[in-house]
Amino acid sequence: MSKVWNFYAGPAKLPQEALKRAQAEMLDWEGTGMSVAEISHRSKPYDALHHEAMSLVSDLLGLDEDHHVLFLQGGASLQFAMVPMSFIPAGGSADYIMTGSWSEKALKEARIVASAREAGTSEADGFTRIPRQDELDLDPAAAYVHLTSNNTIRGTQWRDFPETGDVPLVADMSSDFLWRPFDANRFSLIYAGAQKNVGPAGVTVVIVRKSWLEKANSNLPTLLKYSTHVNKDSLYNTPPCFAIYLVRNVLAWIQASGGLTAMEERANGKAGRLYGVIESHPDFYRCPVAPDSRSVMNVVFRLPSEELEAKFVAEAAAGGMVGLKGHRSVGGCRASIYNAMEPEGVEALAGFMEEFARKNG
Ligand SMILES: *Cc1c(COP(=O)(O)O)cnc(C)c1O
Repeated sequence: MSKVWNFYAGPAKLPQEALKRAQAEMLDWEGTGMSVAEISHRSKPYDALHHEAMSLVSDLLGLDEDHHVLFLQGGASLQFAMVPMSFIPAGGSADYIMTGSWSEKALKEARIVASAREAGTSEADGFTRIPRQDELDLDPAAAYVHLTSNNTIRGTQWRDFPETGDVPLVADMSSDFLWRPFDANRFSLIYAGAQKNVGPAGVTVVIVRKSWLEKANSNLPTLLKYSTHVNKDSLYNTPPCFAIYLVRNVLAWIQASGGLTAMEERANGKAGRLYGVIESHPDFYRCPVAPDSRSVMNVVFRLPSEELEAKFVAEAAAGGMVGLKGHRSVGGCRASIYNAMEPEGVEALAGFMEEFARKNG
């Protein structure tokens, strides 16, 4: 098997350690003589794994007693609907900060079930930056403020989260969950589809402030109520056991690697390397994102022409570097360098970029 560096935006690269552990345990998990994918979710070994995964999220982030970790299904896309259904009261409204497609989808879902307003946007600048605090028009009576912490498609990322006063803060962290230490207890709800930074597709990690649930709409189908999942520790119905198992492996790897501080240092180093190559070839590569808004997870860049971009993606793939095509809605190139991407992979890409610029510039 030849070495492949996987730069796909999601589902995305997983840490080798997490996959090797799964491989070693595939046929006989913890002496049960069965795979973790074959065992009852009510069994003792599964229960222990499930709670270990929850505790790892909690420990890595230093969550307080009021914050509960959930493992749900339906992707981040179902959270776009569950959040407004639960938390916008009749006659109320929520504020959404717009930073591209995912925030647009979140707002669209909210407007199906309730009233929601745009409280800030960088659309006039083509979503190439994160709105500044002084540009936000926050409603003090809003049910919550929603933001997307990392914009997977546009390659922008929030560094400092906005002040929202007494209004609860909600974030879609699908593409940068657990990349660095941050004050998660400030948030009333965080959700993240696992398949970008913490695991495979099939499970969504949600962190919810329990005391906020007292205000939630209770007139909802059972599975769409956060309280159902909080009360049953995400075991009300069959959870995505195997996906949760792999998330546990990834979380254990993060912890063994030095936790979120180590992830942050590694991420800044990797992103710095790629942005450095882009900036040192200003006549060839161009990053459309404002420097203070650049994502350390998704590095988005353009070449002088679409032909050269296609050639770049094809030649990179031939050299074992896959998934570098930008999202179809914006074009260009994108290197997704989540936690699992080794610095060696970024080094290989940086070397290829320099060489490609030299040959084609
Ligand atoms: C990928 C992504 C989503 C969509 O996630 P699904 O799990 O496919 O629903 C939502 N938000 C962000 C920021 C994403 O990167």
